[in-house]
Amino acid sequence: MAERGSPDGEARRTLALATQLKMARLRVTRSRLQLLSLLSEGRRHLSADDILTEMRSQGEPLSRATVYNTLGALVSRGLLMVTDAGPGRTLYEIFDHWHHHFVCQKCGVILDVPCVVGENPCLLPDQIDAEVDTAQVIFRGRCRACAERDAHG
Ligand SMILES: [Zn+2]
Ligand SMILES: [Zn+2]
Repeated sequence: MAERGSPDGEARRTLALATQLKMARLRVTRSRLQLLSLLSEGRRHLSADDILTEMRSQGEPLSRATVYNTLGALVSRGLLMVTDAGPGRTLYEIFDHWHHHFVCQKCGVILDVPCVVGENPCLLPDQIDAEVDTAQVIFRGRCRACAERDAHG
């Protein structure tokens, strides 16, 4: 079996990502493949700036405009999920299931919070005269590590 990182595994992974793009009726472009690939591995929640930095460190720099255009296309076709995690923190991740987020106010860590309903919108306000497309909850507080650090002075 080919392993990830081997030329064979790499080709197979790219092919799988290209298939995802085609199924979402998006043209397969190098930047779309690069962003999907980056977000499929390692850390889940990345900002546009994180992506710019990562691509640069991988020796494949992309322009800011390309990153934003590519993210926009992938979000619009439901391949990526966007989370507004606070001032200046718009985070992107592969959209594999609908969920909410917890943001630690101290260290900034982002944790996925399962959605009990499992689909969006899972909350519907009945006091406003509008159609709701999305309802994403951001929980804020202190993560366990930060809470324990505070407790022990
Ligand atoms: Zn924390
Ligand atoms: Zn998430």
